[in-house]
Amino acid sequence: MSDFCGDALSSACFPPYCSFVSSLHLNAVRQFERAADLLGLTDAHRAILASPTNEVIVNFPVSMDDGRIEVLTGYRVQHNNALGPFKGGMRFSPAVDLDEVRALATWMTFKTALVDIPFGGAKGGIAIDPRAYSAEELERIVRRFTFALGSNIGPDHDIPAPDMGTNAQTMVWMMDTYSSMASAADRHTVRRVVTGKTVATGGSRGRDKATGQGLTFVLDAWLNRTGDTIDGKRVAVQGFGNVGEHAARTLVKAGAIVVAVADHTGAIHNPDGMNPEHLWQYTSTHRGIKGAPDGEPLTEEEFWRVDCDVLIPAALENQLCADRARDIQATVVIEGANGPTTPEAEEVLEDRGITVIPDILGNAGGVTVSYFEWVQNRAGDAWTLADVDSRLRRLLHEATDETLAAAKEFACSLRDAAYVVALRRLTTVMDQRGVFP
Ligand code: GLU
Repeated sequence: MSDFCGDALSSACFPPYCSFVSSLHLNAVRQFERAADLLGLTDAHRAILASPTNEVIVNFPVSMDDGRIEVLTGYRVQHNNALGPFKGGMRFSPAVDLDEVRALATWMTFKTALVDIPFGGAKGGIAIDPRAYSAEELERIVRRFTFALGSNIGPDHDIPAPDMGTNAQTMVWMMDTYSSMASAADRHTVRRVVTGKTVATGGSRGRDKATGQGLTFVLDAWLNRTGDTIDGKRVAVQGFGNVGEHAARTLVKAGAIVVAVADHTGAIHNPDGMNPEHLWQYTSTHRGIKGAPDGEPLTEEEFWRVDCDVLIPAALENQLCADRARDIQATVVIEGANGPTTPEAEEVLEDRGITVIPDILGNAGGVTVSYFEWVQNRAGDAWTLADVDSRLRRLLHEATDETLAAAKEFACSLRDAAYVVALRRLTTVMDQRGVFP
């Protein structure tokens, strides 16, 4: 699938106080600007939140299996830490660049503020296709990247987690490398330097499914508040990685029907519903959904037009463009990916009366359970899955209710409302702490 479908990038409206915002980062800035207007925030607030605090770029050599040395470039953008340590995933994808990482880091700041966990926002990654490397090469890449970042990350400073192209094993390699560089007495206390680890090495139960589970909790809360339920809702999921797969599984458990699934290899459709477990087994052996016997094949554009109630973009950013927004049949879009809806598409959806549940709420389950993992590591504790799920449900239901209340107060979209809630928390702390010196 193409990763960008052609909406014009609005270079015309670069904010005057910030010279370096560009495409995807500009989308993120434009999103919080709308809420900043509603709240009447000052230029100083806006400039601080449009500017990442630190941007770290590291170039590092890695030995490949055939003896060659590749020099790779890694990024870590630490956007804001007003509310707590920098927090956010590490992405391995060919599309990773400074602009993308800036945008993703910015979204993390608003996501953690919205769900009211004591973290700031960060993101990082390497511009590689992880499928092009052996497991041994990937381990050396991850360890050398962690070494190159050195003290730019830390258990109470900046805490990475999985994102696209990385997983629990990646986090265990990062944790092991970081703790091997710590003093002997600190090797265990520093393991909270990353979250999303395997349960055996100190990860939290429920972290693997947390983003998909969170999406289901948020959709459930939103439907309940509008007098409806998940039961029988027909869902189309774009992307069948960690987020899409677990969204499909948890939605089906809650009574929904998955009628269409798309990924980078193709799309399939079955109006009677498909079993996410079968789809997962198929995609893990065939490296994609294409050819899965559970449904009829669809073209990429047919997928976006498919008859459904709920559409979940859970792949890359900028997937739901204006042309696709004109055709979608769903009455609600809930964003599993970060930034999947272009600003132009958002206007089309708004005109058509289609609700968009924004990424910073829809996919906040991942970082919320990351916070639970960090707390468990600090306390030397291990919570049950039932405990993790019930705490996650409570935080996401609260964030959904606060978003709905702000949407009512300002008669605005759920995205603007979510940013209002986050901005109020951020600016309260920024104002009380002031600017040093
Ligand atoms: N990468 C995930 C996100 O975009 C999770 C980040 C985290 O757990 O820190 O929200």
